[in-house]
Amino acid sequence: MKDGGKLIVFSAPSGSGKTTIVQYLLKQEDLNLGFSISATSRGPRGDEEHGEDYYFISLKEFKQHIKNEDFLEWEEVYRDNFYGTLKSEVERIWASGKNVIFDIDVAGGLRIKKKFPEKTLAVFVKPPSIDELKIRLKKRKTESDERINMRIAKASVELATAPQFDFIIENKNLETALQESHDLVASFIQKKEVSEK
Ligand code: 5GP
Repeated sequence: MKDGGKLIVFSAPSGSGKTTIVQYLLKQEDLNLGFSISATSRGPRGDEEHGEDYYFISLKEFKQHIKNEDFLEWEEVYRDNFYGTLKSEVERIWASGKNVIFDIDVAGGLRIKKKFPEKTLAVFVKPPSIDELKIRLKKRKTESDERINMRIAKASVELATAPQFDFIIENKNLETALQESHDLVASFIQKKEVSEK
């Protein structure tokens, strides 16, 4: 992959509020961020749009991309639900002169950090508690109880990986979490980079 701007990873168990934080950061012009649209084999939820929230592709297409080594990272986040970052997506954003921001799962986030240790700021967004997470997921009303329970079970495992991230932001109070995230990203972007292969 050609060299480019910085990589900002926000990872967290689903329901932690990371998407809200990422959407907020994207609106801050001083940060000059472009959203990495992931490819997924799951279907659209609510008013999600192809090419905006995700590239919704078939499982067959997804597997073909794996074979072609088109992904920077990919994960079977939930059974039969594949998610991945296409190398072409990062290159597209870098070519536009922006830094890339990722809203991806914990394993994917850590993989990007490992591939580009100097260029990447890896942030873990921590929910106040598992109970609070359950309440948030139920409020969303977009998924069955079974799928919610699956997400909760995964969340406990994901919480254990938090110490491997550069920073942990506890999302107890949203305003504070947004401010903290902004400041963190702003100072990382200003930092001079040590060159990486
Ligand atoms: P959701 O189905 O709620 O949109 O996403 C489920 C999980 O997959 C979330 O934690 C989300 O951040 C993660 N995810 C989305 N895109 C990617 C990706 O490209 N790679 C990886 N590893 N995880 C992703």
